[in-house]
Amino acid sequence: MPNKLSKRINHERFNRYVKRSSEVGRTDNNGLHRLALSQADKEIRDQLKVWFEQAGLTTTVDDFGNMYGRREGKNPHLKPIVIGSHLDTQPYGGRFDGVLGVLAGLEVVESLNDDHIQTERPIVIVNFTNEEGARFPQPMLGSGAITEHFNKSFVYEIQDEKGITFEQALQEIGYVGKEEYRLKEAEYYLELHIEQGPMLERNSKQIGVVGGIQGMDWLDVNVIGEKNHAGPTAMEDRKDALASSARMISTLYEITNSYSGLKTTVGKLHVHPNVANVVPGNVEWVLDVRHEDDTLRMTALDEMRHALKQQAALDGTSVTVNELWASPAVLFDEDVLGAIEKSTDNLGLTRMKLYSGAGHDSKYMPYFGKTGMIFIPSVQGVSHREDELSHDHDLHNGVEVLLHTVMQLDAN
Ligand SMILES: [Zn+2]
Repeated sequence: MPNKLSKRINHERFNRYVKRSSEVGRTDNNGLHRLALSQADKEIRDQLKVWFEQAGLTTTVDDFGNMYGRREGKNPHLKPIVIGSHLDTQPYGGRFDGVLGVLAGLEVVESLNDDHIQTERPIVIVNFTNEEGARFPQPMLGSGAITEHFNKSFVYEIQDEKGITFEQALQEIGYVGKEEYRLKEAEYYLELHIEQGPMLERNSKQIGVVGGIQGMDWLDVNVIGEKNHAGPTAMEDRKDALASSARMISTLYEITNSYSGLKTTVGKLHVHPNVANVVPGNVEWVLDVRHEDDTLRMTALDEMRHALKQQAALDGTSVTVNELWASPAVLFDEDVLGAIEKSTDNLGLTRMKLYSGAGHDSKYMPYFGKTGMIFIPSVQGVSHREDELSHDHDLHNGVEVLLHTVMQLDAN
């Protein structure tokens, strides 16, 4: 049996998995268009089943279409080490987002098979349904459902743009499994993912040790002024809701820059009446604020609410602020992060700690067990696009770190 530190994955085999996956739902520009529960999704699911069988795994499918491949441990009564992510993509998305995490799980298992290594704990690879939320507008649907964040009727009734329900789509591709097969426990959950941001590349680091997922707030801001004719209304007589909003947004960005790591976005405005020669009477916009420290984010939000009122008073407008949505930060497990760091160091790779600005199935998995994520660089931080790219050597480094992390955690 090889010594643990020398254990390596099979690059050619892993490349074959990636190559095959990149053919299923392929776009003209070498991306993937593989929406959840589409025919392309069915095709890659059928392929995954074959791969699971070839790797000697027992395949099961639950009632949300989540697919599992289980490799028995020496002690089948121990809670498993779960490795997962998703095979669905954004419309005209990339080849690696999500896909990497599932294929990496396969390669880890095949590498263990190569050397007849049986882990103490069972290993379960999972392909979660509709992570992207692109077809059925609720991201991380499959992982959220098994962790009881969404109930079954909510999930089954969600419709796509054409009015097809999740349940119908699941039936159509023949992936309605059994409730009894839902994942119920995990000692550890590991997800390898592309960064979808530029930090690793910018800092010339090979591995991202993900400390957690940023918390996020969405506030609906409604600024009310006075609608008036652009010609006759003197500047000093105006209560221009758009000009007031512009000043507010500028102030919010200043506040944002005074908090390290805080991110604020205003990406959506509704201007009323949105006519060229009318002073806007009312502007409604959405404020998106993110940070991994919930307390810091709350403090910043308080300051922002206060600044909005102040600016409105100066401009003679009024403002109402309503919370649309709040998602607290998720912090990953220190033991798992430690194992990832140690594996990275043992392999002689460079690393940095960072936080995910995007959601992942890992967000819900701490419900079951100790969770951690590994990032590898995305070229220019691009993702959700056909030209999303991670280099082979970075993909291989990530899978290697995943394999070593699994072996380390199993020895705990
Ligand atoms: Zn993803």
